[in-house]
Amino acid sequence: GKPSLAPFGTTIFAEMTALATEHGAVNLGQGFPDTDGPRAMLDAAKAAIDGGRNQYPPGPGVPELLDAIAVHQSRFYGLTVDPRSEVLVTVGATEAIAATSLALCEPGDEVVTFEPYYDSYAASIALAGAVRRTSVLRFPDFAVDEESLRAAFSSRTRMVLLNTPHNPTGKVFTRAELDLICSLAREFDAWVVTDEVYEHLVFDGAAHVPVATLPEMWDRTLTISSSGKTFSATGWKVGWVSGPAAAVAAVRAVKQFLTFVGSGPFQPAVAVALGLDNSVYAGLSSSLEAKRDLLVAGLQSAGLEVSVPGGTYFVVADAAPLGAVDALAFCRELPARAGVVGVPVSVFHDDVDAARTLVRFAFCKKDEVLREAVERLSRL
Ligand code: PMP
Ligand code: GLN
Repeated sequence: GKPSLAPFGTTIFAEMTALATEHGAVNLGQGFPDTDGPRAMLDAAKAAIDGGRNQYPPGPGVPELLDAIAVHQSRFYGLTVDPRSEVLVTVGATEAIAATSLALCEPGDEVVTFEPYYDSYAASIALAGAVRRTSVLRFPDFAVDEESLRAAFSSRTRMVLLNTPHNPTGKVFTRAELDLICSLAREFDAWVVTDEVYEHLVFDGAAHVPVATLPEMWDRTLTISSSGKTFSATGWKVGWVSGPAAAVAAVRAVKQFLTFVGSGPFQPAVAVALGLDNSVYAGLSSSLEAKRDLLVAGLQSAGLEVSVPGGTYFVVADAAPLGAVDALAFCRELPARAGVVGVPVSVFHDDVDAARTLVRFAFCKKDEVLREAVERLSRL
């Protein structure tokens, strides 16, 4: 029968941003930057609009963006990707996740993923009529537990839905963890769909390792990314999928009936952004790394135990010292009580006990905003 989406009500991001507005609170909930991305990219969008690129773009994406994505995969990762058959532009990574799940899974197929998981994973798996099988990442190190991961696989496993760097934990999967996941995917003949939207937001001099570059993985991997995070333009919703041509064609077939196409004038602008110098990419990650340090130190000085993230926009802290018993209830009260918004990690879990008192705070904000949030939390 039709999968029930009834359990998926208002997303936590919409709920928490509404509370932030209502209470005039500092919003460290929803992950979006409060400064704009590269000037050249913004100007290119204006030029595209003024240049009349306001009608339906081609189904797979505009040619200059497909080319720029292929060049990006080669430039940063040494991957050779055919821009015409192995790349598809989507309406953000969100559409890519939904379209990939729908393309690869039949009802009853199983999808292995880690929890906490990004909220759209559970919904997309349900839309496809598939069943999620999860392995828990536990605070504070969020290490992969081999036994529970292996137990999540079965003869019905169709795909692994992976996310590195990982939202909401900020974890960057280690090479050994990725090798384990890939070897299980090969053993159970599963696809790996890897959400790498934070690929350029990795800290401490570490390098992002795309799953598609690992031995024997290209043929069974679909890689998802988005300009939202890399170029601080979350509202533009320009994402993409790349991988073997037949699988990309299957995703494209689904995408036609979800949105057909999207983000017309923003596509050529993202093509310009992808071609910018390394210093632009490095500048964003080093600025975020400094913000991570600022927020981590502030949360620690407010008495919280923190898991220091290796990437992303997010840090997870244990709010028990601030009186949290149930993170969801705590986060619903926090805007009125302290004028700060965070997101309860428990909403990204099936096993909510794994994250009872854990709160995710976003640090992709101006320094003064982060300082104000910390000061308010310190007063609690
Ligand atoms: N995947 C992850 C892990 C994310 O954090 C996000 C956005 N926060 C998305 C996908 C969605 O990306 P987009 O906005 O490009 O749809
Ligand atoms: N991905 C962003 C986050 O994790 C929010 C995206 C959304 O609001 N759906 O905070």
